[in-house]
Order: sequence, then C-alpha cells, then structure tokens
Amino acid sequence: MSPIAARLQAVKRRISEALQGDTRPVVLVAVSKLQSPEAIREAFAAGQRAFGENYLQEALAKQAVLSDLSIEWHYIGAMQSNKARAIAENFDWVHGIDRVKIADALSRGRPAGRAPLNACLQVNISNEATKGGVPPAELAALAEAVAPLGGLRLRGLMGMASPGNDTAKQRREFAVLRDALEMLRASGHHGLDTLSMGMTHDLEAAIAEGATMVRVGTAIFGERPSRAPA
Ligand SMILES: *Cc1c(COP(=O)(O)O)cnc(C)c1O
Repeated sequence: MSPIAARLQAVKRRISEALQGDTRPVVLVAVSKLQSPEAIREAFAAGQRAFGENYLQEALAKQAVLSDLSIEWHYIGAMQSNKARAIAENFDWVHGIDRVKIADALSRGRPAGRAPLNACLQVNISNEATKGGVPPAELAALAEAVAPLGGLRLRGLMGMASPGNDTAKQRREFAVLRDALEMLRASGHHGLDTLSMGMTHDLEAAIAEGATMVRVGTAIFGERPSRAPA
C-alpha cells in the first residue's frame, strides 16, 4: 500500500470512529493545495474522488494534467471577483462565498448547460479577522441573496474553528455553524444539506457537531511544502 493510501485509510478510520455508530455519510474532501499531481493520482488510485484546492492558477495547472481522472473539484480558497468566472468554469463546488458580489460573479460565470455550481456560504465562527466569512448576524441576508441565483445551488455552510487543541472550544465554534444551518433550514431554505467543517486537527470535534463534509490535507498528504512566491 502506498503511503498516501495508508494515510487515507487512517483518516477514514478517524471519521468512522468520530461518528460513534451514527450511519450518516460524511464526505471526505482531500485538500491537495501545494501537493503534486502525482500525489493526487496516488490518492485517486486509492479510491479518493473529491479534492480541494485553494489557489486558482495552481489548481488549473493540475486539472490540466489530471484531466483523464473523474475528480470532483472543490474550490476552498479565498475568492476575488476577477477569478470567479474561471472558478465557476472549472470546479464542482465552492466553499468560501462570503459576499453577494462573489456569489453573483460565480453564478454569471457558470457555463450554461452545466449543472449549477454547488455552493457553501462561509461563516466566521472563530471571531478571527483573518479567517474570512460572513458574521453569523449577516448570514440570513446573504442566504436570501444567494439562494435565487440560477448558476448556483446553495448547499450549506462552511466554517473554520480557531487553531489550537482546545476541543471544547472547537466544538462550541462548530456548534455555531450547525445552529446557523438549522436556522436557515427552518426559515425556508429546506434544500440545505451540507456542513463543511473539520480539518486535520479538529475533524473529530466537527463530526461530533454534525459535519457532513470534512476538508483534510495534512493527514492525507503529509506536511505541505511552503508556497512559492507568486
Ligand atoms: C488548507 C485547508 C484545509 C486543510 O487543512 P489541513 O490542516 O491540512 O487538513 C481545509 N480547509 C481549508 C479552507 C484550507 O485552506
């Protein structure tokens, strides 16, 4: 078994243990930013199908050399309006929508004839200025604006907990995201089915609070090489 296949298996074991007998599905998105196409191929050969990327140019280059694989591509990075068209054309999911302007640009950029782009709204659950995401108090208005956009299919919410190993704090923050999704569903957004939360160091806390999708990089691919200057 390749090292990546072995680590992938270990992550799946962590997920199933965190579920504690619950049978709901949890989708694993393998975060491959700054990892090579060969590493993605290795994970694909081990059965992994969903991959997450943060940097558009890097992602497009890898997609080009991996076009023989049927990968579900997730854009999980920060977004600027001038990149929205390329993201909408080349990805199946986006996780980081935090303003109407980006949502609108993604919707307009989604090619006609393709299924709408699956979209999650990013909520700031950690009160850290650097993390991005809409404040919980502004979420309902953002959802109202995004839901009618024809090029998008609003699926749910994405959030990141504070760094560190305080499990109780992680759970409190993830619970904010879970409650926000329940609030939106109760207010008429019945189609929302996705809670994208949990990474290498906090996936257990996220699953305990109801994550349906976890985004895991380091535990699958090992430490990331540092990003080359643009
Ligand atoms: C990098 C990244 C991840 C994965 O982080 P790991 O700690 O390597 O698992 C998940 N989500 C987002 C938004 C990221 O940028």
